[in-house]
Amino acid sequence: MNTLLLLILLILLVIFLYNYYKCNEPLIYTHTQNMDSISVLFIGGTHGNEQSGSIYLNNLINKLKTEKTIVNYNLTIIPSVNKCGLMLNCRYVPYVIPYDINRNYKPYGINKKLISNYIDYINNADIIIDIHEGWGYAKENKGSLGAGIYGYFKNKSLIDDRFINKLIKNNKILDKFVSTKNNKQTIKNSLEDYCKTNGKDYVLIETSRKDSMDVRLKQLDVIISSLINIEI
Ligand SMILES: [Zn+2]
Repeated sequence: MNTLLLLILLILLVIFLYNYYKCNEPLIYTHTQNMDSISVLFIGGTHGNEQSGSIYLNNLINKLKTEKTIVNYNLTIIPSVNKCGLMLNCRYVPYVIPYDINRNYKPYGINKKLISNYIDYINNADIIIDIHEGWGYAKENKGSLGAGIYGYFKNKSLIDDRFINKLIKNNKILDKFVSTKNNKQTIKNSLEDYCKTNGKDYVLIETSRKDSMDVRLKQLDVIISSLINIEI
């Protein structure tokens, strides 16, 4: 075998190993307030072409680190689940066979290595808040979930449908938003499906890519600040 071929194979092996390990290791930040508090898990960047949730949650981590913000809950934040997809602005994990994390929440399959890194945080959280982006507005564009807050509550948690509806009604920046009453279907093997099956409270926040990044980040700020600072 000539040296050049060997070198190319070696480079390909290094790229493969880098992707295998790095794409599967999301940053996990925990902010413990009080062991008895409710545990809230934030997840962003599941789809790499939906950047606002990831940007917002990374900013939130910096804020929690530097400003000593007081929040009422124990927070776990996973800002960039699909690290490599976010780098390439690509929906899927750009792995050997690209795949959609949010269609593979079951304990088997190609995503096992990635999800096993944070599944315990999901199982131990009282409520999971999952941030995505839609291409349009659910209010106007059939087939898009964009601009919506969809909650499913089995347990008496920090928020409920009434809280979400009030939040949308009282904030002008959320005037295009819809809520669970708009009857959204659960996607099979999504995180929402996993949470429902396992009796976990779950909120799906969908901004819309029709809004500018600046507006999307402001919308997330209004929603998430309201969530983590409310009295219980
Ligand atoms: Zn998404």
